[in-house]
Amino acid sequence: MTETMTVEQARELLLARIERMPAERVELLQCMGRVLAEDAVSDIDVAPFDNSAMDGFAVRAADLAGATAETPVVLSVISHIGAGDWSETPVGPGEAARIMTGAPVPPGADSVVMVERTEPVSGDGGTGSQVAFAIEPALGEHIRKRAEEVCAGAVVISAGEMLGSAAVGLLASTGHAQVAVYRRPRVAIVSTGSELVEVAEIPGPGKIRNSNSYSIAAQVLAAGGIPLRFPIVPDDLDATREAFLRAARESDFIVTSGGVSVGDFDYVKPVLEELGELTYCKVKMRPGNPQTMGSIDGVPFFGLPGNPTSTYVGFEIFVRPALRKMQGLATLDRPMVEATLTHDVKKKQDRRYYLRARLSAGNDGMSVALSGSQSSALLTAAHQGNCFMVLPEGDGLFPAGTSVACMRLDIDEGIPL
Ligand code: AMP
Ligand code: MG
Repeated sequence: MTETMTVEQARELLLARIERMPAERVELLQCMGRVLAEDAVSDIDVAPFDNSAMDGFAVRAADLAGATAETPVVLSVISHIGAGDWSETPVGPGEAARIMTGAPVPPGADSVVMVERTEPVSGDGGTGSQVAFAIEPALGEHIRKRAEEVCAGAVVISAGEMLGSAAVGLLASTGHAQVAVYRRPRVAIVSTGSELVEVAEIPGPGKIRNSNSYSIAAQVLAAGGIPLRFPIVPDDLDATREAFLRAARESDFIVTSGGVSVGDFDYVKPVLEELGELTYCKVKMRPGNPQTMGSIDGVPFFGLPGNPTSTYVGFEIFVRPALRKMQGLATLDRPMVEATLTHDVKKKQDRRYYLRARLSAGNDGMSVALSGSQSSALLTAAHQGNCFMVLPEGDGLFPAGTSVACMRLDIDEGIPL
């Protein structure tokens, strides 16, 4: 099937073929931004013991019944407990233990009074001192209970959850020096084109730099994948075949740039058909009508057009969600917002437009303007934009003041707006 299809149909066909990567065990810090592959169970209670939330005194609340600034109650300090100490000396009636934040609450005490509400009557407030208390604490006040975060043996983070920095903290406190997460896909990036030279070179006559290899690699990194930049492939049947076979052996997903149009030297489609399967090669969108999907030896293949902005947009719309799905992420769609056009925009063709644009927040809500020339050969508008203005299929004039849909590129998928 190679007919032209809508963006939705094309995305659906691609995503239906995408399978989640197997899990791997990684060092704790390597799990950032990845999806947990198995429930993480805590090996201990967190907190492991009742502890003080304040620097102050552990007391028996009943001893301080009726205490106020005018009618303070005096208690004897029998111990001094710092964070990391362990005191088994019980606090009896008329007694208090000086206690620091994070220190274990001693037996007998049921509340903590912050130091600011106390005054030494004799001594320095340490062991042997007499201290006046100006308030009556609520039972349990300023005590953080054992297992408040999670009990030993309970699940602290479930399989399928995305791990951010707070999750790393939770996993650390529950004993996970390593965690099982879904593998990041290795993405082969194959730029085709006899006009291409490496970035470090000054292009000779008729040549241009292979910038797509880097922009795609950057997009792969941003999507959580591992970019494998392959050598430039000239517009040659054998060279294309060889590069694709190697890509299929060495990667989990193949992305190519260029060579998918109707040019005399466009070899991506014939080689894909010869080596594997070509599912489609045209999508009703602009920029980037010749988006090409298929597979080689079971490895998903996505052929992006060569014009730098067509490449960029095609990646965002198709490849990024596929790479997210491979990593076990459930949220594949960028947040959409409505914004008011600040100028007229005209479109034609039965294609969805993804215009590079900039959203701004103002007093009257969000407004949006194109961020530069919309030529698919130019990348500056994408660099200066923060969204795609998405205009529906069909001819149309969108006058200033119209509300249009925008796909935010500055916010991660799955964040409801
Ligand atoms: P193609 O899709 O191969 O017909 O290429 C379309 C346009 O994109 C041509 O002007 C190419 O020179 C340009 N192009 C192709 N590949 C790259 C690349 N890797 N980096 C930058 N521009 C490219
Ligand atoms: Mg080409």
